[in-house]
Amino acid sequence: MQHKIPVDKSPPLTEPMAEAIESCVHCGFCLPTCPTYVVSGEEMHSPRGRIILMKEVLEGDLSLAEATPYIDACLGCLACVTACPSGVEYGELITPFRMETESARERPLAEKALRRLVTETLPYPARFRAAAQTGGVAKPLRPLLPKPLGNMLGMLPEHVPKAQPLPEFFPAVGRKRARVALLAGCAQQVLDPDLNWATLRVLAHNGVEVVIPKAQSCCGALAAHTGVKTQAQAFARNNLGAFPGDVDAIITNAAGCGSGLHEYPLWLKGEPEEDVARAFSSKVKDISVFLAELGIFEPPALPEPLHVAYHDACHLAHAQKVTSEPRALLRQIPGVELLEPVDADLCCGSAGTYSLEHPEMARELGLRKAQSLLDTGAELIVSGNIGCTTQIALQLKIWDGPCRFCTPFSC
Ligand code: SF4
Ligand code: SF4
Repeated sequence: MQHKIPVDKSPPLTEPMAEAIESCVHCGFCLPTCPTYVVSGEEMHSPRGRIILMKEVLEGDLSLAEATPYIDACLGCLACVTACPSGVEYGELITPFRMETESARERPLAEKALRRLVTETLPYPARFRAAAQTGGVAKPLRPLLPKPLGNMLGMLPEHVPKAQPLPEFFPAVGRKRARVALLAGCAQQVLDPDLNWATLRVLAHNGVEVVIPKAQSCCGALAAHTGVKTQAQAFARNNLGAFPGDVDAIITNAAGCGSGLHEYPLWLKGEPEEDVARAFSSKVKDISVFLAELGIFEPPALPEPLHVAYHDACHLAHAQKVTSEPRALLRQIPGVELLEPVDADLCCGSAGTYSLEHPEMARELGLRKAQSLLDTGAELIVSGNIGCTTQIALQLKIWDGPCRFCTPFSC
């Protein structure tokens, strides 16, 4: 697509945006894979429509206010990237666009306050824990609260699990085969503290020693994807300094965080740390990829056969192109029969804070996803992202779904 974006006179992030726009040929192959297009049927709610809107804003032919309802409604699921035959890097357009335009956005006071609350709470485990505990107590007040705040309370668990602080080092069992560093994640430490401990045990059992840097922070994905550029860059800079260089890989066990770490060179484009960020990102691996490459020792057999449906988290399948490794690992567990839901590529509607700001769309997508997973007849649903597990578990509760939910390492 031709454009007249003044790349030379614009911030460094304009370059990847212009490249993504240039490579779009309007073919429309991405439309059927876009969840918001599937639900609404509207061109402006499709990847192609959004690319044109962002192009026009960057060219100065359209006001930001006219484009934002459609841009805001994008989940950032990147299913369009997987579907695109022209290699349009939509993620290198939408995230920089949000980062570069946020300061020019006019938002109602209540919306600003909610965003502030989320970005100042969720990325900090201690604050999030305190907020989740307080929110749990306040749940009965939901009908009296402003709708966005009520939605937020509705997503909190009934009980916040007890904190399980992590050690700074976890040794390998037997012969050491590798040394890695683990990103502990922020919200997941609070919502599912077992997950990191299960990750440590699986790694150790397979001969991997793990460093858990104390100085690490949130990966910054939530800030980046909501357009809070300075916070995203600050988290990225902190983690570049916090993680040791003498490791074989930097491991994540949450798709959203892994995808965020891979984006550090983009967030820091044109900044002094860009090259360091590139070297850092090249070491980042989802745990399923790391273990598949390393080769795992045979897991113990299950006491009885188990039907398992695997849900692809968008930030694993589309953002990191990881689909076969988690399935291969699950198939190595004697007794597991793996089932595939229909519309596996379609987002579950979680997408970071999306479900807070667009609860109707998020609920519609969550219900579709939960239904397709239940239709497999699985007794257990597995996914590699805490956001997806929280979102789908919430929808399954509505049906009183007869199946359990977990991540590949915490069943
Ligand atoms: S990122 Fe997802 S929601 Fe956004 S345009 Fe692409 S497919 Fe649609
Ligand atoms: S599939 Fe790719 S090239 Fe075709 S309209 Fe969508 S983004 Fe553009």
